[in-house]
Amino acid sequence: MLWSGWGDPAQARELPESVRGLLRDLLGVRAPATPAAGLESVRLAPVALPEPLLGALAEIAGAGHVRTGHEDRVRHTRGKSTPDLLLMRAGDGSAAPDAVVLPGSHEEVAELLRLCSRERIAVVPFGGGTSVVGGLAAARSGFTGVIALDLGRLDRLRSVDTESMVAEFDPGVRAPDAERLLAGHGLTLGHFPQSYEYATLGGFAAARSSGQTSAGYGRFDDMVVGLTLATPSGTLDLGRAPKSAAGPDLRQLVLGSEGAFGVITSLRLRVRRAPAERRYEGWRFPSFAAGSAAVRALAQEGPLPAVLRLSDETETLIGLAKPDSIGSDGSGGSGASDGAGGSGCLLIAGYEGAAIGQRHAAASGVLARMGGEPLGPEPGRAWEHGRFSAPYLRDSLLAAGATVETLETAGFWANLPRLYDAVRLALLGALDPAHPPLVMCHISHVYETGASLYFTVVTPQDADPVAQWERAKTAVNAAIVEAGGTITHHHGVGRDHRDAYGAEIGPLGAAVLRAVKAELDPAGILNPGALIPPP
Ligand SMILES: Cc1cc2nc3c(=O)[nH]c(=O)nc-3n(C[C@H](O)[C@H](O)[C@H](O)COP(=O)(O)OP(=O)(O)OC[C@H]3O[C@@H](n4cnc5c(N)ncnc54)[C@H](O)[C@@H]3O)c2cc1C
Repeated sequence: MLWSGWGDPAQARELPESVRGLLRDLLGVRAPATPAAGLESVRLAPVALPEPLLGALAEIAGAGHVRTGHEDRVRHTRGKSTPDLLLMRAGDGSAAPDAVVLPGSHEEVAELLRLCSRERIAVVPFGGGTSVVGGLAAARSGFTGVIALDLGRLDRLRSVDTESMVAEFDPGVRAPDAERLLAGHGLTLGHFPQSYEYATLGGFAAARSSGQTSAGYGRFDDMVVGLTLATPSGTLDLGRAPKSAAGPDLRQLVLGSEGAFGVITSLRLRVRRAPAERRYEGWRFPSFAAGSAAVRALAQEGPLPAVLRLSDETETLIGLAKPDSIGSDGSGGSGASDGAGGSGCLLIAGYEGAAIGQRHAAASGVLARMGGEPLGPEPGRAWEHGRFSAPYLRDSLLAAGATVETLETAGFWANLPRLYDAVRLALLGALDPAHPPLVMCHISHVYETGASLYFTVVTPQDADPVAQWERAKTAVNAAIVEAGGTITHHHGVGRDHRDAYGAEIGPLGAAVLRAVKAELDPAGILNPGALIPPP
């Protein structure tokens, strides 16, 4: 993983000159004045933890598993939001942990948490490091130091129960490894977020992730039937039946707790048979409103495809559903090659499973009845091919001088148009009116009662692009709260959404969270500053 960008450096992409020209002429993008810093020149504070404490950590995790080297610290500084990457590219390592600790078992995690509570060492659980909400940079004030608790050594598939269709995993298993391990049993999780290549199962549970096939397989929190949480106060072992009426479901308290209540050390996950067949295809709708109505009809009447993604007019024009092809024909857009004709809205429907023919026929009937025009398999194939490549494109755009960031929300169907307008207006109002940003949106997670809206914004970087985006983000957060949406559908809260989350759940809700934290983490060492709204 690139330390200041996304993914495998071998897949890094240069922007074609045609796209650079468009960015320059349409958006006023100019190359940044200073080149990106090299890893060795990232500025880090000296390690704050004294030797005896580093020794005590090493006694628990093993000497080779407490690391204070420059590269280890840099690689555990922040996550992968655009402001995170901008700061790293500027050589700002101020959020680096003092040490990276890699425990090898639940017992080691529990013992480390006890030690850190006694010694007031802040602990940031670290999975794949793909948080986009500031979930990985601890507040340091009041602590002896900060450690990143990297769960990468906890990487086993522990058991598979093919009768109940439940698999038990360690939390540090990366998504592709989970799929590879399950494939040996003819099974799949069916969880494919865009961060699939690097994110871990523990991170998915901790941040309540949702993947591209959520319509078919559900969100990640739908898949968790049981889990184990190590906390400074002891261990919670939850989920002894698929459903229960035994009081409130405490599993739901752990899902989305973002490392602030404890460390997830084991996950029991519902699995499915690996699909025998997959079929992805495209449809065109005359407008986002018409496409939304069709998506709603599918969500409410069925049958739902596994993948259902509707781009708005701007996203369709730019071709973001198929990032691999952006700029490849010199047009920068989807053009006529996908049959979408560059107009209207592109919908991708993907069917997975056994005997998908019937579901495909019934869903296609609904889409056609709602005004959709079938475009055949080509747009589906292009989407599938490029489904994980947009983050690589972000790196190239950042280097070219454009800020590219995504944000998301969700709401009930009746409120979705209002939410869509509110976010767009907030972004247009907060970013440079002389060079209006490009704002694109798609729906990709649908429910009977509503859907998520996922926005991508492209805007020229000003002299302080981090502050520039912070202003835009503050305006959008306020607009989402005001328009009745949730502050996040699947990215989580972290630090970036904490205040808006407080507004969403109200003072009593926030007080409940603080009470739970006080019980599980009385010294307040776990991911301080993340998730929990202050009084
Ligand atoms: C390019 C890109 C695309 C993305 N696409 C999607 C998407 O399609 N869908 C989606 O849902 N999200 C997406 N995300 C967001 C991110 O991938 C998810 O939030 C993911 O769940 C984080 O997993 P991770 O293993 O990287 O966790 P990390 O980023 O390491 O951690 C996330 C949070 O969980 C905590 N945590 C991690 N592991 C544990 C554990 N075992 N116990 C307790 N706390 C823990 C951390 O302290 C942190 O607060 C994307 C991010 C990027 C950068």
